[in-house]
Amino acid sequence: MPSIAPASPCSSQRAKAFFKSQFQCSPRWVADAPGRINLMGEHIDYNDGFVMPAAMDRRLSIVAGPISSDEIILCTEQDKKVFRFRLNDPLLPRGDWTDYVVGVLAHWMELNASVCGLAISIASDIPLGAGLSSSAALEVATATLLEVAWEMRLHPRAKALACQAVENHYVGMPCGIMDQFAVTMAAKGHFLLLDCQTNTFEQIPVDSHFPSLLVINTNIRHALTEGCYAERRSQCESVLLVLGQTSWRSVSMTQLMDKSEELSDVQLRRGRHVISEIKRTRDAADCVRKGNMMELGKLLYASHQSLRYDYEVSCKEADWIVDRMGGLGEGGGVLGCRMTGAGFGGCVVCLVSPDAVSDIIRQLDSDYRKKFNLEADFFLTSPSEGCRAWIPS
Ligand code: ADP
Ligand code: MG
Repeated sequence: MPSIAPASPCSSQRAKAFFKSQFQCSPRWVADAPGRINLMGEHIDYNDGFVMPAAMDRRLSIVAGPISSDEIILCTEQDKKVFRFRLNDPLLPRGDWTDYVVGVLAHWMELNASVCGLAISIASDIPLGAGLSSSAALEVATATLLEVAWEMRLHPRAKALACQAVENHYVGMPCGIMDQFAVTMAAKGHFLLLDCQTNTFEQIPVDSHFPSLLVINTNIRHALTEGCYAERRSQCESVLLVLGQTSWRSVSMTQLMDKSEELSDVQLRRGRHVISEIKRTRDAADCVRKGNMMELGKLLYASHQSLRYDYEVSCKEADWIVDRMGGLGEGGGVLGCRMTGAGFGGCVVCLVSPDAVSDIIRQLDSDYRKKFNLEADFFLTSPSEGCRAWIPS
């Protein structure tokens, strides 16, 4: 039976221990940020839609201490190499993981924060590139650290937007706002229903009868993700242009179908996903509010089929898991499941009865290995709190 627990000790303890081993002293500041699962609303944050993520209980921790030189010394447990950046030199993107951190540092320098040299170390329990938003966790944890270390606090909304701008313009990934918002605003025991047209949100509490959230990592990561993501964005923009609209929120399915002769088959399917997913996300939020888990499960399956056939961002491994879970059905303790995150690999999120979890994992684990000659990772998670910073005792 595969392990479902995060690495022990937790990321903040490991980041502190790593800091001590690298810099022979204890860090002065600690910050962390969670990964997230998205329960509903995929690829519609950049289409003015709604999304409904929750923070996971797996986190990325970043710790720092002041140094006397005008330098940033940066290391992550993931890649033991030490990187040095001079604060007086232009901080340009390098095309590696340090961009997520240095992009945020460069932004904080522009804000006239009380800049000082820092030694920084990072440790994380969020799988990288698995659609669980390790990149936003890295940006937001860095920003949260700088709020205390460089004494420049931002409103949480401004912080999330600043981190998205870093990912868009410094890293070069044209992501929407969901990940940075989820990681910043999430509240323990709640889903975050975010309106991506207005950037306003509602915290929806999860009651004690909410099923278990089982995350299954396909361990597939396609290199094409960034190009495909940008392509989906521009396809959606091109459909809006044909429809003579500026926002997907004002487009109905009837309006889309009325223009079907002017749209290609691909454009029609992209539009159909966006419009149906916006509705599904509102409906799913209603299900969480009312505790209607059967209906919520059906919406998850419907979302997956839309992402698979209309938006074409799934992969055969995620499809196989969703079909297999559907086959187990309610009798086997599965209420619903779908891919989560940008897709092209990554993770599947499933709503399951707590007492069926071990049986489900046992079956899926060996069947997945046989089918794809690959290990899947399984873990349970629950809605957790967003980013935070503290001074260790
Ligand atoms: P996701 O956000 O779904 O995990 P992305 O491709 O958007 O996938 O972001 C993953 C990238 O974020 C990694 O390739 C790496 O550059 C960076 N990253 C995330 N976590 C860490 C970490 N703990 N240490 C170093 N880099 C990290
Ligand atoms: Mg990311």
